[in-house]
Amino acid sequence: MKNVDYIIVGGGYAGVFFAHQLLQHGKSFIMYSEGLKSASHISAGIVNPVVLKKFTTFWLAEEQIDFLSQTMAEIAIYTGKNYLVNERIHRIFHDESEKELWLKKSQTEELRPFLDPCFEQLDVVENPFGTGAVQKSARVNVDDFFTDFLKYLSEKYILINERFYHESISGDQYKDVKFKNIVFCEGMGVRDNPFFCDIPVIPNKGHHLKVQLEQKPTNRYTIKKKHFLFPLNDDFHYYGGTYDPNERENEIDDFKEVELKESLVAFYLHDFKTVEVNYGFRPTVKDRRPILGHHPEHLNYFVYNGLGARGILNGCYFARELFEHIEFGKDLMPEVDVTRFRK
Ligand SMILES: Cc1cc2nc3c(=O)[nH]c(=O)nc-3n(C[C@H](O)[C@H](O)[C@H](O)COP(=O)(O)OP(=O)(O)OC[C@H]3O[C@@H](n4cnc5c(N)ncnc54)[C@H](O)[C@@H]3O)c2cc1C
Repeated sequence: MKNVDYIIVGGGYAGVFFAHQLLQHGKSFIMYSEGLKSASHISAGIVNPVVLKKFTTFWLAEEQIDFLSQTMAEIAIYTGKNYLVNERIHRIFHDESEKELWLKKSQTEELRPFLDPCFEQLDVVENPFGTGAVQKSARVNVDDFFTDFLKYLSEKYILINERFYHESISGDQYKDVKFKNIVFCEGMGVRDNPFFCDIPVIPNKGHHLKVQLEQKPTNRYTIKKKHFLFPLNDDFHYYGGTYDPNERENEIDDFKEVELKESLVAFYLHDFKTVEVNYGFRPTVKDRRPILGHHPEHLNYFVYNGLGARGILNGCYFARELFEHIEFGKDLMPEVDVTRFRK
C-alpha cells in the first residue's frame, strides 16, 4: 500500500497548477491522467487581461497575471525553462471608431495599465486602421509547458498515465493507494464522475488550425482579428480558437475548419497551408467563475473545474485558493465556491 497526501485526477491546467502547489509545499501525491489531448493541451496559451470585443477588463485580471508570473518563475526552477513568452497581443481595429474607443479607454484608471495608446501598423496582414497593443499580455508555450511538466512528474513516478476509474474508490483508498485528499481536475470529463457530475459545466468546443504562412509577419506578435494568429516554436503559426456552445461530437467539425480558413483569408494577405486541425472542449460555467470545493458527504473529495476560456489565469490563481482552503482552512471566495449551486 502506498500512502500519499493527495491524488489528482487530470493533467490539464487545473491538475498541473494544483500539482505545482503541492510540489511547492512538499506534499506527496499521485496524478492520474489519461494522456489524451484535452482543451489545455491544444489551447492557444494566450494570457490576456482585456476583453477584446469591448475593451474592458475582468475580475482579478491584474492579480492573476502577477501570480502567473510568480508561478512560472517557480516552475522554471525545477523544469529549467521559462514558458512565458512576452509577445504582446496586437488587436486589429475594424474602423476609426474602435480606435477612438481604445484611446478613450486607455486614459481610464481601469484600462490604463493594459491599453497602449500608441498604435502600430503591421505588415503581411490587412490592418488599414492599425493595431493597439495590450500591455501585460503574453503567451504560454503550451507544448513545452505540458511536455516538460508531465515529464518531470513521470520521472519522479508521480504521474500515472492511465484512466482513473471512480468505481474503484473506496473511502480513502484507490486501488493500492491510500490518500488524505483527492482533487478531481477533469474538465468536461467530470460528466463521468459520480461524485461531481451534477456541477453545471457546459462544454464550449473550440477548434484551431496549425498553418504554414507563405510570408511571416516581421515582428513576433500575437495578432488578433476574429481569432489569434501567432508563431509557434517551429515553422508554423497557430490560428484560433473558435467558440461553439452547442453539444457536439468528439471529432473535428468540418464547418469549423472552413470557418477558420475563411476568416484567416479575410485578413492575411498571402497564401497559407493548413498542416493540422485540433479541437477541445472548454469547461464553461454560466456565471463565468470556476468551481471549487468539497463533496457534501465525502469531505476530502474536491472538485477543481469550470476554468472556461481562461484556463491559464484561472487555473493558476485558483489552484492556490483551493490548496490554502484544504490545508489552512481558508474560506473559498463565494464567487467560486461549489456550494453556490447547492442552495
Ligand atoms: C481551442 C481552444 C483554445 C483555448 N485557448 C486558451 C487560451 O489561449 N488561454 C487560456 O487561458 N485558455 C484557453 N482555452 C481554455 C482552456 O484550454 C481551458 O480552460 C482549460 O483547458 C481547462 O482545463 P482543465 O484542466 O479544467 O480541463 P482539461 O484541459 O480538459 O483537462 C482535463 C484532463 O483530465 C483528464 N481526465 C478526465 N477524466 C479523467 C479520468 N477519469 N481519468 C484520468 N484522466 C482524466 C483529461 O484527459 C484531461 O487531460 C482554450 C480552449 C480551447 C478549446
